[in-house]
Amino acid sequence: MAIKSAKTSLTAIAATLACLCAAPSASAEHAVRADKATSASNAAPIMDATSRAPITILISIDGFRADYLERGLTPQMQNLADQGAVGKLRPSFPTKTFPNHYALITGKRPDRNGIVGNNMVDPRRPNETFSLGDPKQALDPFWWNEAEPLWITAEQQGVRTATMFWPGSEVPFHKQRPRDWVRFDSAISNEQRVNTVLDWARRPADIRPAFITLYFDTVDTAGHRFGADSREVNDAIADVDRKIGQLLSGLAAMQQPARLILVADHGMRTTSESEVIQLSDILSLDSIRAVEVGPYAAIDPIAGKEAEVEAALLRPHDHMNCSKRQDLPERLHYGKNPRVAAIICIAQPGWSIFAGPAPWSANGGSHGYDNMDPDMLALFIAYGTHLRGDIGTVDNIETYPLVARMIGVTPLPSDAVGMLAK
Ligand SMILES: [Zn+2]
Repeated sequence: MAIKSAKTSLTAIAATLACLCAAPSASAEHAVRADKATSASNAAPIMDATSRAPITILISIDGFRADYLERGLTPQMQNLADQGAVGKLRPSFPTKTFPNHYALITGKRPDRNGIVGNNMVDPRRPNETFSLGDPKQALDPFWWNEAEPLWITAEQQGVRTATMFWPGSEVPFHKQRPRDWVRFDSAISNEQRVNTVLDWARRPADIRPAFITLYFDTVDTAGHRFGADSREVNDAIADVDRKIGQLLSGLAAMQQPARLILVADHGMRTTSESEVIQLSDILSLDSIRAVEVGPYAAIDPIAGKEAEVEAALLRPHDHMNCSKRQDLPERLHYGKNPRVAAIICIAQPGWSIFAGPAPWSANGGSHGYDNMDPDMLALFIAYGTHLRGDIGTVDNIETYPLVARMIGVTPLPSDAVGMLAK
């Protein structure tokens, strides 16, 4: 039922897109795709090509591991993938939410975008800790000013933007913000989020955003609480897929062509209380400040205790590797930013590092491991772009120039090589 109607909706969007795609080199491919879509169900009328310019919607499904698509729970997303492109995003290290959302929207890895962790300390403010749970810090532009997010660049180039949540979107960047934005509130339901996007799309052309972000957190929340293979995660996946269908149906009803780019910030790995590394077994907790714990630990020795802490941590351990930040493997592109703690310990995938009492139950799921862990790979689907088929595994920073191209914005220099934007 819902699947069939959304397929028809998709056909309408695809047919419109075939007329309106701005990327000149892709017009032939779009024609092919439109034919395929048309043959899949009853043809929708091709609309007046001058009626509505396409909008680009960047959708993040937090914690949507790449292989969740293979569970047979996501007909709407599969439909988009079949008509567009699908792949796996390799998150940046650390494979955490804020560093990766900022990497996706700036094209710069955490070391260069300044959001080096969900929790972090800046040597210029040694007595303060950036933390998701502390709005005073999380909303302070000081932490976000090292890289310019795409919505700011877009506004400066005359492209109207709107953010239905995205980490960093509530924070002014040199006093600028997206034209429309919403203060994060997990109580705003997924359905309300989609309706807000549809309300924006419904606006008259002169005040309609051309670039919109949309963010869902329910899949990640279920993954943390119940583990990656739980019924609760599957329910959350299916629910978000239905919301994608709601979005497609709404856009089709107003004959609004759209390009959709679906991403996730990281994957999810099931964890267990039987796989815990307790730092108090290795050193005196009085000798360290543990800025971050869990799949990786960010540790600053207390002044005067450096040698003692290094001796304890830098030797081999069974289920984690610790390095001074300047000695981390080059492939992680991490450790040069002064906000990175002096010592970074990365747990073997599935294990958790704690410093004293666990701040959460280790029985559930987590992320933050080495970004080479296959379970950290994240969702990627592009629909209505020039990309087709399976694009394989790409670094998540490559999404930035792709989205910039879709909205006609010249991107700032970034860490991306542009492999998705060519
Ligand atoms: Zn996340």
